[in-house]
Amino acid sequence: MLKWTLRNRLLVSFLLLIGVTILMLGSYILWYFHQYNIANLTTHLFTNAQIATQFVQPSLSGPYTKASLDNVVKELSATTNIRITVIDLDGKVLADSWENPVAMDNHLNRPEVQSALQGHQENSIRYSSTLHQNTLYAAVPIYHGSEVVGVLRVASTLAQVENGFQKIQSAILTALLATCFLTMALSIRLSRKYTAPLEAITHTAKQMEKGHLEQRVHVHTGDELELLAHTLNSLASNLEDTIHEITSEKNKLELILEHMDNGVILLDRYGRLTTANRQAASFFQITPAMMGQHTLKVIGSQLLDQAIQQTEASRESRFVNIKTTLQENRRIFQVFLAPVRTGVLAVFHDITALQELQERQSEFIANASHELATPLTSIKGFAETLLDGALEDKELRTKFVRIILEEAERMHRLTQSLLQLAKLKAPEYRQQLPMEPLFLIPVLEQVLQEISPKQKAKQLQVHVRFPEEETSITGNSDYIKQLFLNLLDNSVKYTPENGSITLSYEQTPSHAVIVIEDTGIGIPPHHLPLIFERFYRTDKARSRKEGGSGLGLSIVKFIVDLHGGSIQVRSQVNLGTTFTILLPLEKEKHPAAD
Ligand code: ADP
Repeated sequence: MLKWTLRNRLLVSFLLLIGVTILMLGSYILWYFHQYNIANLTTHLFTNAQIATQFVQPSLSGPYTKASLDNVVKELSATTNIRITVIDLDGKVLADSWENPVAMDNHLNRPEVQSALQGHQENSIRYSSTLHQNTLYAAVPIYHGSEVVGVLRVASTLAQVENGFQKIQSAILTALLATCFLTMALSIRLSRKYTAPLEAITHTAKQMEKGHLEQRVHVHTGDELELLAHTLNSLASNLEDTIHEITSEKNKLELILEHMDNGVILLDRYGRLTTANRQAASFFQITPAMMGQHTLKVIGSQLLDQAIQQTEASRESRFVNIKTTLQENRRIFQVFLAPVRTGVLAVFHDITALQELQERQSEFIANASHELATPLTSIKGFAETLLDGALEDKELRTKFVRIILEEAERMHRLTQSLLQLAKLKAPEYRQQLPMEPLFLIPVLEQVLQEISPKQKAKQLQVHVRFPEEETSITGNSDYIKQLFLNLLDNSVKYTPENGSITLSYEQTPSHAVIVIEDTGIGIPPHHLPLIFERFYRTDKARSRKEGGSGLGLSIVKFIVDLHGGSIQVRSQVNLGTTFTILLPLEKEKHPAAD
């Protein structure tokens, strides 16, 4: 089927235009030619008729015989080759050059004869049943003086005129056909020429529509089409630049959103999730299938839902803190809610650690105050008792002052430990702490010596296993000594009399491994994960009795971390406890130094 494309439309328009023009022109020429010939023939016939009347009139106005009149008309007809008929006033045919007048009808009703009888010359065209052809008749009155005495009619067939007409008609038809073919060829060429640039522009525009904005159209027609192509090219180029700019902005924004610590969620007006960044997805376990679900279902916080509704209604930003449990972990978020065009933007800042830190700090302050308050109350109580009269009693006085001293020493130890902890926690202090190559055996021997009075008092056996050759570690001698002093002191404190303590030290290619094992009271399993916490004690009374503050193992943990090592504990109640400490060797820390 013919596609109604611009080219085909142009083609059909061209053809119609040319066809109609030629047809109208041809018809007009034909009509004009026909009219011209008829007019010519008519003039010719009237001239002949007028001449003929001159010959016929004498015969008709005087006494005449039919035969003589007939002879006159036949002679005239022979020289002019046209039919001549003479008709009397009654319409009777008196003579005819081609036919026998006796056999002919009365001609009174012929229109041209009627007019001639009235004194006018007249012509008419009609089909002649005598000649069996279209015939042109011209009739003129024959006068005798001023009186009409008859009509002379001349006739000529239109065969010649019609012949000419047909020839011109076929010539025009041939010309029409030839012109049509020529026009068609020309139209095809022209329409192709005019539509080719348009097709190129359309093709490129379609490619651009599909996203191929790098496509360009090349049209050099020097007219509006070239201008259109140029405009299309600049449009695509501008669009490409704009899209590039938008994409890069979008990418930047996505990059920021994806890598930010905060969870970002976009909600529609009804509180349904439309977008979530990576962090938000990981906070709330959001899967792509959950998009479009209500925040209440996804995050499960009534408080947040209310705040979102308020933000949407008031179109004002606000902060709200929400607590939620995610994968069995308690999480606290500070949520910033801002109204946006499509709904509400929610930014989740995880403040769980901050909150916990604050809680731990308050807890720590409470614990420290409590630890300090206990000996202080004791000191105050005994001092008051002394002032109230106990000073007089020498025995009591000595006993009470000794207690005051013990409590003061406990306070001193506690404040020392607190100070040490505070220092170890400060990053600046840790960075500035001098670290040097250190051999552990001398340090361990020194510690053993320091605990020996207590150990001997409890009649504890101490077994020691040291390596024959030792590689140094990098460490701070004071803190390393403190580390082992705290651990061995605990072993002595929590091992009943006659028990034993084993200190074994060996080296792997990378680490110094020190194991301190005792046969003491042990630690119940549920306490084990907590013993490195500050102020944590499995048995408060016993620890206090032994002079403990619950800070020893926290300090140990800090020192081990400071040296890049690790500590593990195993224990069985009433059987004993084993601490294993791993400290990296110096060459491990500085391989280039070897
Ligand atoms: P403390 O000053 O009370 O000893 P630590 O921080 O040194 O505090 O120890 C914390 C708690 O761990 C102790 O109160 C004690 O209950 C337990 N503990 C530590 N070392 C041992 C050990 N060798 N044997 C049994 N219990 C121990």
